[in-house]
Amino acid sequence: MLSGKTAIVTGSTSGIGLGIAKALAKAGANIVINGFGDPAAIEQERASLAGENNVKVTYSGADMAKPEEIADMIGLAADEFGGVDILINNAGIQYVAPIEDFPIEKWNAIIAINLSSAFHTARLAVPEMKKKGWGRIINVASAHALVASPYKSAYVAAKHGIAGLTKTVALEVAEHGITANAICPGYVMTPLVEKQIPEQAAARGISEEAVVRDVLLAAQSTKRFVEVSELAALATFLCSAEAGSITGAIMPVDGGWTAH
Ligand code: NAD
Repeated sequence: MLSGKTAIVTGSTSGIGLGIAKALAKAGANIVINGFGDPAAIEQERASLAGENNVKVTYSGADMAKPEEIADMIGLAADEFGGVDILINNAGIQYVAPIEDFPIEKWNAIIAINLSSAFHTARLAVPEMKKKGWGRIINVASAHALVASPYKSAYVAAKHGIAGLTKTVALEVAEHGITANAICPGYVMTPLVEKQIPEQAAARGISEEAVVRDVLLAAQSTKRFVEVSELAALATFLCSAEAGSITGAIMPVDGGWTAH
């Protein structure tokens, strides 16, 4: 379905991004993976993604907090694969603290990685997409693009921001065969969530079991974590021809959380 297309998936050395990269490779796209981690493990993942799916896969270690490294990553896709057709803005970090204790450097990092990076990738990728008359931009936002939770001021601000960015870009590129959408997951059990369980427990003064039951899954009506495969399947569909009229959509995949 996607053979001959190239996808950049930011933050794809782990969790949701890795799941989306695997699904797009399975659908035939060449992939630029990105993110941090053990170099040997990343190389192993790169090689198996390429080998199992008979596609080309390259790795960019660009830091999504640094606009010049983001430009290098877009340049790599152009040099190796002739440009980017599918842009998945997924890299993200979290930090949980009351507003009065929220470290300024954590605020700046979350806004840079979770929001500004998607501005930079889009501004650099759109000209080539316009030339080709086809493109897909998918921003992995969050249920926190639609509702707030206490102690996540930077994350909620960045995710609400990316919803606005998604809608704006969608309007600007709509007549060029390019769509821009946001996927808004509820809680998915990835390293990002595992890490915040002890942080939430400390911020709220409750046990880790209580954080899972009473905080994380409190509003998720299905009472289960969202599966990475569910998000990867939606991302793949949004890349299809049949999804050409879906644009500017902010799509919850949250077990009913934001239906409350
Ligand atoms: P994760 O921690 O498993 O993966 C995050 C990825 O981003 C990793 O590959 C990491 O190396 C990369 N990354 C982090 N900082 C980076 C930087 N500066 N430059 C480049 N790459 C960087 O997290 P995840 O749960 O898979 O989250 C992926 C996205 O999904 C994030 O945007 C997150 O906000 C969003 N999300 C996650 C959940 C959840 O419950 N896990 C829910 C809603 C939204």
